[in-house]
Amino acid sequence: MSGLPDRTQWEQKAATLHFPSQAFIDGEYTPAHSGAYFVNYNPATGQALGEVAACDAVDVERAVRAARRSFNAGVWSEQAPTARKHVLQRFASLLMSHRAELALLETLDMGKPIHDSWHVDVPAASQCLAWFAESIDKWLGEVAPLPAHLLGTITHEPLGVVAAIVPWNFPLLMALWKIAPALATGNSVILKPSEKSPLTALRLGALAQEAGIPAGVFNVLSGFGVPVGQALAEHPDVDGVFFTGSTATGKVIMAAAARSNLKRVGLELGGKSPHIILPDCPDLTAAARAAAGGIFYNQGEMCSAGSRLLLHRSLMAEFLPRLRQAAARYQPAQSLDPRTRLGAIVDRTQFERILHYIAVGQDQGATLAWGGKAALCDSGGYFIEPTVFTEVNHQMTIAREEIFGPVLAVIPFDTLEEAIEMANDTDYGLAAALWTSDLTTAHRVSRRLRAGTVWVNSYEEGGDMNLPFGGYKQSGQGRDKSWHALEKYTELKSTLFKLG
Ligand code: NDP
Repeated sequence: MSGLPDRTQWEQKAATLHFPSQAFIDGEYTPAHSGAYFVNYNPATGQALGEVAACDAVDVERAVRAARRSFNAGVWSEQAPTARKHVLQRFASLLMSHRAELALLETLDMGKPIHDSWHVDVPAASQCLAWFAESIDKWLGEVAPLPAHLLGTITHEPLGVVAAIVPWNFPLLMALWKIAPALATGNSVILKPSEKSPLTALRLGALAQEAGIPAGVFNVLSGFGVPVGQALAEHPDVDGVFFTGSTATGKVIMAAAARSNLKRVGLELGGKSPHIILPDCPDLTAAARAAAGGIFYNQGEMCSAGSRLLLHRSLMAEFLPRLRQAAARYQPAQSLDPRTRLGAIVDRTQFERILHYIAVGQDQGATLAWGGKAALCDSGGYFIEPTVFTEVNHQMTIAREEIFGPVLAVIPFDTLEEAIEMANDTDYGLAAALWTSDLTTAHRVSRRLRAGTVWVNSYEEGGDMNLPFGGYKQSGQGRDKSWHALEKYTELKSTLFKLG
C-alpha cells in the first residue's frame, strides 16, 4: 500500500489532529467578522469534528479588498513567471509533505475512503499545482505580422481578483483545479469551499503562505453558499468567478455575474454520463469493472459518474453477473479502514436525496437488481449500498436526473443509432464512454457523442493534466486542467507600437 498507515494508525492520528476553524484573509487566520461559527460533521460517524467560521458578506468585502490591494501592488501579479513557478512548486511539495494530514482531513470531512484521499486526492492535487507551475514560464505570447514600422504584441494578462467556488465531492482537488491556474497566471484568489467540507481548503492558507505566496494573494472564506458564494458572484470588484457544483447553482452564479459587473464566469456542472457497451466489446470483464468503478468510486458523488449504462440487449445475461462481481468490491465500510472502497455519503441531506431517488426508481417500475438500502446504520454515519437498477426506461427520473450517489441505471438498447440517440438525449454533456473492438466505430461514435470527454474501452482513465475537463450543454462552459485552463484566468491584450 506504499506507505499507507493502517486503520488504528489513522484513528490515532485523527485523535490528535488539529482541525482548521478560521477563515484565511490577507495572510492571517481570522474568525468571521460576526463571530459566528457553524458545526462541521464527520459523515462516517455523524459526530461533530469542530466549529468553523461562518463568514458573510462583510468577510467577502475584507477578502476582496485584500485581494485587490495585493493585485494592484503587483507583489504576485507582476512577479516574473519563473518566480511564481518556484513558489508554486514549493506549494506542490508542501502538499505532499503534508500528505497524511491532508488525506485525513479530507476523509474525516467528507467521508471518502482514506485509500482514495491518500492515493488519489492529495497526489493529484499536488501534481495539478506542479503542472501549472511548470507551464507558466513556457506560455508564450504572439507577435502580429505587421508592416515594418509597427510592432504588435498579443499578451496574456491576469484577470485580477478571481473567486473559486468549489463543491464537497473532491474538496482539495477541485480547489486546486481552479486555484493552480489562477495563481500561476498572476491573479489574486478567493477560495470558497463547500460548507460541507471546508477543512483542507482552510489548511491551504498556511501552506500557501509557507510556500511564499504573499499576503492577500490567496484567501479562503468558509461559510455557506448564501451569503458567501452569492456575495462573491455579485461583487462588483471580482473579475471572474469559477465554479464547480450543481447546474442549478451554476445558473444562479451566471445570473449574478450578469446583474453585477459581467465578470468572467467558468462553470463545471453536473452530468448524467452514458457508458455504452456495444456487442463487440473487446473485454466484458474489464468493461464491468470500469462500469462499477465509474459509478461507485467516490460513492458515486462525481460529476463525471457513468450513471447510465447503455447495454446492448444481447449482452445482458453475460454482463450483469460480471457487474455484480465487480460491484462487490465497493461494500460500504468505515472510511478510515484502508481496505474500504466505498465510504460515507457527504451528509444527511445528500443521503436522503439518494434514498429518495432509489424509491422513485422503484415506484416508476425499474427493477432493483441489488443494493438500494442504507448500510452500517449503527455507525451514526451515512452509508448506502452500491445499487443497480436494470430494465430502466430512458425516460425514468433515475435515467434523467443527476443522483450523485452509488446508483446505476442499466438501460438496454438494440441498435447503435438508438444508443447514440439516448446517450445524447440529456441536458448534460460532461462525459461519455463506449466499448467496441472496431476502430472505425470507436472514432465515428466518439465524434457523435456530445460530451466534453469521451473514453473508449475505459472509464475515468488517463486523468492526465494535459487533457482538458469540462462539459457541453448544461454541464457548463470553459475547461479545467490543461493549457486551455490558463486562458480562462487571463485577458488577451493587443499592444501596437508605432516605431520611429
Ligand atoms: P451546490 O451546487 O449548491 O454547491 C456547490 C458550491 O456552491 C458550494 O460551495 C456551495 O456552498 C456553493 N453555493 C451554493 N449556493 C450558492 C449561491 N447561491 N451562490 C454561490 N455559491 C453557492 O451543490 P449541493 O451541495 O447543494 O449539491 C446538490 C447537488 O448538486 C448534488 O446532489 C449533485 O447533483 C450536484 N453537485 C454537483 C457537483 C459537481 O461536481 N458537478 C458537486 C456538488 C454537487 P455551500 O455548500 O457552502 O452552501
